[in-house]
Amino acid sequence: MSVVGIRGVAGLFLPGGLLLLAGLAFNQAPTFVPWRGLVVRIGLVILPLLGIMVGWRFNRFKPVMAIGLLLVVARFLRVVPETVSEFISPDQFKALLAVLLPLNLVLLALGRERGLLSLSLATRFILIFSQPLLVVYATDYFPGFLSLVEQPLLQNLPPLVAGLPQVGLIVYLLSLLLIGSLWWHRRDAVLAGFFWALIAAYAAQAQYTGIRSSISFTFGGLILLASIVEAAYSMAYKDELTGLPGRRALNELCLRLPGRYSIAMLDIDFFKKFNDTYGHDIGDQVLKMVAGKIGRVTGGGRPFRYGGEEFTIVFPRKTSEECLEHLERLRKSVEFAEFMVRGQDRPVKKGRGKRGEVAPSQRKVGVTISIGVATRVDRKSPVGVVMKEADEALYKAKKAGRNQVSQRS
Ligand code: GH3
Ligand code: MG
Ligand code: MG
Repeated sequence: MSVVGIRGVAGLFLPGGLLLLAGLAFNQAPTFVPWRGLVVRIGLVILPLLGIMVGWRFNRFKPVMAIGLLLVVARFLRVVPETVSEFISPDQFKALLAVLLPLNLVLLALGRERGLLSLSLATRFILIFSQPLLVVYATDYFPGFLSLVEQPLLQNLPPLVAGLPQVGLIVYLLSLLLIGSLWWHRRDAVLAGFFWALIAAYAAQAQYTGIRSSISFTFGGLILLASIVEAAYSMAYKDELTGLPGRRALNELCLRLPGRYSIAMLDIDFFKKFNDTYGHDIGDQVLKMVAGKIGRVTGGGRPFRYGGEEFTIVFPRKTSEECLEHLERLRKSVEFAEFMVRGQDRPVKKGRGKRGEVAPSQRKVGVTISIGVATRVDRKSPVGVVMKEADEALYKAKKAGRNQVSQRS
């Protein structure tokens, strides 16, 4: 798997997957027993409060509502079966929640975030919190309705999945598949949070009862909270167009660099002309694809978008000689890449006889990059100096004809 692929999957796993594992371990570890009730009680108060604060700050209210939902369900599962058992059996209640909870989490994960006072959020709130009432009505008018969710669809399934009725299990699986594929396309940290929170909710419902189920729900809430923070981090540190870390992340890395390192500055050749020829939109698409290549740089290089069509790669603990082969490989990978871009499907020329002719919707284009690299020689020289030297080397590469790597001599 490429570095980008590994980083991408790590983006799904961290921090949600890790928190889920921690939650499952916490549930299994007998030494923690005296704390468990405390964890749930603290979670019940702290999570919604933190959720509201963090959600407010970063304008993410759907995951906050999902945290609230998980905590309400956790509470429901502990108190409701005893109190309403005359009209719904505990098993039926559990079976019903196994269908409704994943569906509601999906409902909250879908769609854009439009703020606290948006219609979209209000609709979801009403849709979700009117469900207990709807269930009461439904059971009154269609007494057979509850047995539907308990209906086994297939016989002889292994007991791993037997904690929940099959309908619930299928709804959970489909929901996971949907959220997982949405994450794959959008790479949004909050979607990753919903993914792991769904698994936490499944574990809470299928495997555990009592306090252990509440703990899993609490961890589900924690996962969602962490995902809001993670999304905010991405927004601050990642460049939106290319997905590479931006200038702020570069500045932070510079503060904790080892004694020896090299810095490469990269710049796309004649990009202004490229934009003039193909248009800014196609320029953006190509910039993104070049950034994709730069993101896959070998040799332990850490890539950043410096700004515009300029990029920086930091190689901790490497001399510029050691970086050369990796930079050369990267330069070639851009030179020989044929970038497929989407055209704008609009008439190319308005001249006679050409009317109605449209630009091909897909076309291949190419660009090259020039690279300058410098190493920190003097242990006292600040990072700004090394960067300036790399910039000078880049200028040299440009002057020497572009599409090449130049070292600071
Ligand atoms: P060279 O570096 O080879 O000397 O030539 P150049 O034309 O690339 O150099 P210059 O720095 O003058 O121009 C950079 C151009 O990059 C200017 C701008 O049109 C383009 N550019 C910068 N940022 C973006 C961006 O985010 N999207 C697009 N489409 N173009 C950008
Ligand atoms: Mg430039
Ligand atoms: Mg340029």
